Order: sequence, then C-alpha cells, then structure tokens
Amino acid sequence: MSNIFQEKSNITNKHSVFTWEGLGDIKEGRGNLGEDMPVIVYRLLEYTMLHVLAEEFGEEKANELFQKAGFLAGEQLARNTLDLNVDFDGFVEQLQKTMRELKIAILRIEKFDAETRDFTLTAAEDLDCSGLPATGEMVCQYDEGFISGLLYAYTGKKYTVREVDCWANGDRVCRFRGSVE
Ligand SMILES: [Zn+2]
Repeated sequence: MSNIFQEKSNITNKHSVFTWEGLGDIKEGRGNLGEDMPVIVYRLLEYTMLHVLAEEFGEEKANELFQKAGFLAGEQLARNTLDLNVDFDGFVEQLQKTMRELKIAILRIEKFDAETRDFTLTAAEDLDCSGLPATGEMVCQYDEGFISGLLYAYTGKKYTVREVDCWANGDRVCRFRGSVE
C-alpha cells in the first residue's frame, strides 16, 4: 500500500507541462507497432494544430506559437540526446547524424562566420514541408524555432532564425539564416 501511495505522490507533472520523461517509454508501450510511424501522421497533427490555432488566434500568432514550440523541442532534444561539450564541428557532425537517424532532415551547413557566428544551413527532405504544394509561403516556423532551440542549448545564446527558401515556396530544400540576437 505504501508503495502505491509513494508512486502516486511522485507524479508531479501534468501532461500539459512538457518534460522529456513525459514522452514516455515508447518501446514498452508499442510492443507490436514499434517506435516509427508514417510522416503523414506527423503532418496531420502539425497542420490540424496550425489550422485550429490560426482560426483561434490568427495566422501570425499561430506561427509564433509554432516557433515557440519548435524552440522548446530543439532545446530539449539537444539537452537530452546530444553531447554539448564538444567543439562546433563536433556538434554539427553529431546533429547531422541525429537528424538523419530521427529522419527529421538532411542537414548541411552552407556558411558559418566564426566571428559573428551567423550561419546559413539547408534542410533537405525536411519532415515538415518536403513535397508540399507550392503556396508561395515559407511554412517552416516550427523548424525556425527548433534550430534556434538547438543552438541555444549548445551556445547559451539566443539566435534569430529565419527561413529564406522553402519547398512550399518552390525550392527543393529549406534554407535557414541565423544570427545571434
Ligand atoms: Zn520549409
């Protein structure tokens, strides 16, 4: 009895408060179905969420909220899965490997200014937008926040990250420019 009570009292986090542990034991929970699922399910969640948020709060606010969520995801992913005590090249190499393994995108650094720390990177086969119909928009606000969050975890500095090319804008890769705020 005391064990049950103790277990219950240890549950302090609400489902609506993000923690890495709150993602759960997926392997344990999905013994037959496994840890992977089709990209369409990810996009279905993402784009219906965007639709509802845009209806409720307007498009600009919805994009801002997506960016914030992306930042939290990037920061948490970096803190929980990456070694942050390596040099920049080591960090990039590790990030490329992780993003490929998790099938997020194929990452390439196009430019990095060692002095200002500004950068340009591309994400090919991006999880969020590759293959979308061309609407003439940059749609990867979540990714902007995601990249900013990854870099915040590694550098301790806030980056402003903007998508300058996107599949939805007719390009074949997403290209992001970042600079320290
Ligand atoms: Zn994009």
